[in-house]
Amino acid sequence: MSAPFDVRSADVLVVGAGPAGLSAATRLRNIGVASVIVVERELQAGGIPRHCGHPPFGIREFGRVLTGPAYARRLIDRAVNSGVELMLGCAVVAIDYAEDIIVTCASSRGPLTIIAKRVILATGAREKPRSARLVSGDRPIGVLNTGALQEYVYLQHLAPFRRPLIVGTELVALSSLLTCRKIGAHPVAMIESRDRPTVRRLSMALPRLLGVPVRYKTHLAAIVGKSRIEAVTLLSADGTLEDVACDGVLFTGGFQPEAALARSAGLQIDEGTGGPTIDQFARTSEPRIFAAGNILHPVETAGWSWREGRRIGEFVSRDLDGQLPPPRGAIQLRPGTGIRYVVPQRLVPGGGGFDHLQLRAKASVSGALIADSGGKQIGKQPLKSAPERRILVPLAGFAEAKEDITFGLNEPDFETIRSDAECV
Ligand SMILES: Cc1cc2nc3c(=O)[nH]c(=O)nc-3n(C[C@H](O)[C@H](O)[C@H](O)COP(=O)(O)OP(=O)(O)OC[C@H]3O[C@@H](n4cnc5c(N)ncnc54)[C@H](O)[C@@H]3O)c2cc1C
Repeated sequence: MSAPFDVRSADVLVVGAGPAGLSAATRLRNIGVASVIVVERELQAGGIPRHCGHPPFGIREFGRVLTGPAYARRLIDRAVNSGVELMLGCAVVAIDYAEDIIVTCASSRGPLTIIAKRVILATGAREKPRSARLVSGDRPIGVLNTGALQEYVYLQHLAPFRRPLIVGTELVALSSLLTCRKIGAHPVAMIESRDRPTVRRLSMALPRLLGVPVRYKTHLAAIVGKSRIEAVTLLSADGTLEDVACDGVLFTGGFQPEAALARSAGLQIDEGTGGPTIDQFARTSEPRIFAAGNILHPVETAGWSWREGRRIGEFVSRDLDGQLPPPRGAIQLRPGTGIRYVVPQRLVPGGGGFDHLQLRAKASVSGALIADSGGKQIGKQPLKSAPERRILVPLAGFAEAKEDITFGLNEPDFETIRSDAECV
């Protein structure tokens, strides 16, 4: 028997109820778009913050410091109060587009089809699993990433380990220190394959305060233990191998966009980000499908994703009113020397859209960023950055460019502060 809601229609369908999806949907309703549905595969809306039981969230959005769940609650309340329809426990499994955009969802109430005028993909990012990190050794339980740890601790109230090793020094690694503290776990060490932390050095005061030793230029060579983890083997830069007793391994960071849906829908994917390519209005290669939040750039803060979603809600509303320039005639924006990715990847003529390009460097760099178009330098700005840090370049200066633009580091000027091994 088919459920009463098995075919629905909407002006805009948002996939994913994290900060980006909820803010885009709320903005759309507040601007006056009549029907906005947000589909979320989990039984609760809020995205990642819902299981980050620590601050800081919400400074930009609510002018105060909130924990993740309190922040998620406020985002949900705003969305619902503005008239957004939330469909929870409902995963989008396919998107087809020809004349209409037809979105197929799976839920415990049965299959559901939604026909939408516009779609926004806001499916977020996920952490690289152990299999993709090529760590050898046994396969005992107790190997987690930060997302799984937070689900154990904040949603299921379980303590998966007491003495874990933490791999990585991104912001989420610091957040995992707070999560460990909440369950009384004391990490045996944090390790980092590079010779410096990914976060700013100042932030490394936190492991110091908590008495967690940090070891740089150190790799995880193997995990030891049959049913439970008993130890890890660490490899130092001088080739020394050392066994360290512990009962868990926490892989942190190494984010990649949750882009399976975008791929299966046949959208163009950027090799640098791993997410869909967009123009300066966040339109993917199918211009009626937009993308917002961490699916575009692994990985940003919740506040950034929220602000971006809000802006993209405005673009979508303007598109519904026929006010965006046509997607034709775009030039490509490409990463050059030392640059991992550039977002957006296309610039359509006529200006407007995002104020900035977002870039990431491959390594810690210091020098100048050069914009080159047709063999001519059309822009230059000083650059000093580390790998996972956001680099912003104002877009206004490139509105008139007629040929593709490459953004790269000026080789004579530019100094690689450190040549980075690939992040584990
Ligand atoms: C451990 C950790 C700690 C963090 N701590 C902080 C912090 O202290 N402060 C801060 O500002 N930021 C923090 N962040 C970053 C912040 O959580 C993210 O930047 C933010 O959640 C990104 O929002 P988003 O909407 O793009 O994606 P997400 O929050 O990931 O939301 C995406 C949503 O899409 C849903 N989804 C995916 N695929 C489908 C599908 N096919 N169908 C339906 N739904 C789908 C997912 O279930 C999810 O709910 C942290 C991140 C992590 C991992």
